[in-house]
Amino acid sequence: ESFETANLRKYVLDNILKSGYKKPTPIQKHAIPIIMAGRDLMGCAQTGSGKTAAFLLPIINTLLQDPRDLITGPNGCAQPQVIIVAPTRELTLQIFNEARKFSHGSILKIAVAYGGTAVRHQGDNISRGCHILVATPGRLHDFVDRNRVSFGGVRFVVLDEADRMLDMGFMPSVEKMMEHSTMVPITERQTLMFSATFPEDIQHLAGRFLNNYLFVAV
Ligand code: AMP
Repeated sequence: ESFETANLRKYVLDNILKSGYKKPTPIQKHAIPIIMAGRDLMGCAQTGSGKTAAFLLPIINTLLQDPRDLITGPNGCAQPQVIIVAPTRELTLQIFNEARKFSHGSILKIAVAYGGTAVRHQGDNISRGCHILVATPGRLHDFVDRNRVSFGGVRFVVLDEADRMLDMGFMPSVEKMMEHSTMVPITERQTLMFSATFPEDIQHLAGRFLNNYLFVAV
């Protein structure tokens, strides 16, 4: 019942302590070892359960444990190592801020992209290279279409609040993005999906894009 048993690097543990987290929440307790073991995961958890840290901590741990250079594709196309898709600007900003908090002082570069604001500033941050990109489906789709972002170097894909993305009509964009991720060999990428509910459409999405996944509901 402590973060110490999770085999996280000292650097990550220190940042958890600095956040004031004393012990893992149930989703963290179950999801962190699964993600650390390299498995795909379908997690059923509500907002407020601590699901953001449940995926960010093991991802950040892996990026630091097994660092890879940031590479840029043809025409300066960015190749993030982690692509996190979430339904709203508020949620992307929340995830972005938690990722910054947990990677504070490390080499990791994190960028955020959402609709409703000019592409330029967000695009510049992405083009300078980012390990982690947090984006809404529409804006991500846009960047991929314009060859500003590719899934070519992706190690982790996270779909957060998948049921809300479905309700908001984002499924066509999400499916297109996920199809890009399937170009990366299955052994090279890990896919994590979170949803408060697990209706048929979400089960279908999980079956299509997760590889031999483990299911956790809290
Ligand atoms: P989330 O469900 O990811 O939106 O997280 C809900 C809130 O719980 C956020 O404000 C987190 O900072 C906080 N939180 C996440 N994990 C823990 C933990 N293990 N202990 C205390 N607070 C936490």
